[in-house]
Amino acid sequence: MSAAHKQDPEDPQVTSDPERLLQRFARLLEFSTELASTLDIEILLNRIVEAARELTECEAVSLLMYDPQDRQLYFQAATDLLSDGLGRSAVPMDSSIAGWIFTHNEPLIVDDTLQDPRFFKEVDILTKFQTRSILGVPMRTKKTTLGVIEAVNKEHGPFTQEDRQLLETLAGQSAIAIENTMLFQQSDLVAEMVHELRTPLTGLTAVANLLQRENLPENQRITLAQTLNVEVLRLNEMTTDFLELAKLESGRTRFNREPVHLGGLVEECLQIIQPQAKEEKITMDVHVDRSITPVHGDRKGLKQVLLNLLTNAIKYNVKGGRISVRLKRKSKSLFLSIQDTGRGIPEDSLPYIFDRFYRVPTQSGEASGTGLGLAIAKRIIESHGGKIMVESRVGEGSTFSIQLPSETAARQDTQPAFNYPRLPNWRSRTSTDK
Ligand code: ADP
Repeated sequence: MSAAHKQDPEDPQVTSDPERLLQRFARLLEFSTELASTLDIEILLNRIVEAARELTECEAVSLLMYDPQDRQLYFQAATDLLSDGLGRSAVPMDSSIAGWIFTHNEPLIVDDTLQDPRFFKEVDILTKFQTRSILGVPMRTKKTTLGVIEAVNKEHGPFTQEDRQLLETLAGQSAIAIENTMLFQQSDLVAEMVHELRTPLTGLTAVANLLQRENLPENQRITLAQTLNVEVLRLNEMTTDFLELAKLESGRTRFNREPVHLGGLVEECLQIIQPQAKEEKITMDVHVDRSITPVHGDRKGLKQVLLNLLTNAIKYNVKGGRISVRLKRKSKSLFLSIQDTGRGIPEDSLPYIFDRFYRVPTQSGEASGTGLGLAIAKRIIESHGGKIMVESRVGEGSTFSIQLPSETAARQDTQPAFNYPRLPNWRSRTSTDK
């Protein structure tokens, strides 16, 4: 039986029968344990919204995180009820229910969203979902409020104070779990970076020591100085990539929303890599569907992804090889593929190819690199609501493809809202107030 009757908002104890209440709290306890058992932010956020939906017996749940830098709330996860497309949009702080909950730092039940002037209708228009009622609670830790959880459309009757109590408790547990995950990821990234810096630094120390030797023949001194230079350049490249990845992972990268003609961008990137391709005697074969309309996204970010894929297609190709670039539209998506005739990627390496610092062991000695380019590319593309994929066969070549939604706008920043997360590619969307 669900509590379909209206309850006194001042009396949080009003409830359905005690046995049922006990069952619901027992379930809450189970969820709390589950939340504490993962340090993967993607899994965690999805668990939170699913748990919130089950506990409050509603149609959908969304989770918004607060970004202290631009003082905005961003959608970060939602249950699967609705299809893709909303992206990590920001909601207006001063004219949304989530904004109200966050600013007042207190829960809110809205029985009829249409009658509430705070309700931000745009999301319903975008998602084609009809929001009727909302129960929203802040996600608080002792020190700070991280964001808001909103349960949408109670399945039977209105949201009750019992629902509110359960969701508030879950939100408190969620906030702690999110903070733990963020701290863990931060330390994880720093540890990996330091580890990666060790190798070139060891090399540099050895070269510097050799250079100090007396009676070192001039030609050896020159060779060592050149090595030194190459290693310093490599370190420089690594630190730039580290910074970029750390910025992406912490949500501090700001992306523009501007119309980008992918066809034009492809041409521009091809021109840039042309000299490199020529040097390797690589032929380029380009098929661009000219009728493709612009996507909304960050030109600089998309260009960086294209350049990275094209540079890899040259770097890991064979001399005299070929690169085919294709841009086409298929229903509501744009597909860009870059195919090379290089050495390919072994099957057991494919699952790791987009992981930070991963380099195919057999290739790492042959071409210089940081193993960060594809990790960065993946984050940028996912920030545009897209996907990046790879297919490869050893000895035949590799095809990297990007799928981008052609109509929806990319969200304005890479990742939202909070400070040290490794954030998921958010696929589902919500019916709540945007
Ligand atoms: P980097 O090239 O700096 O090492 P990336 O993140 O761009 O880093 O690529 C990660 C790894 O994936 C590379 O080290 C290489 O082993 C492999 N790889 C990337 N692109 C290709 C490609 N087109 N063909 C074969 N291997 C590739």
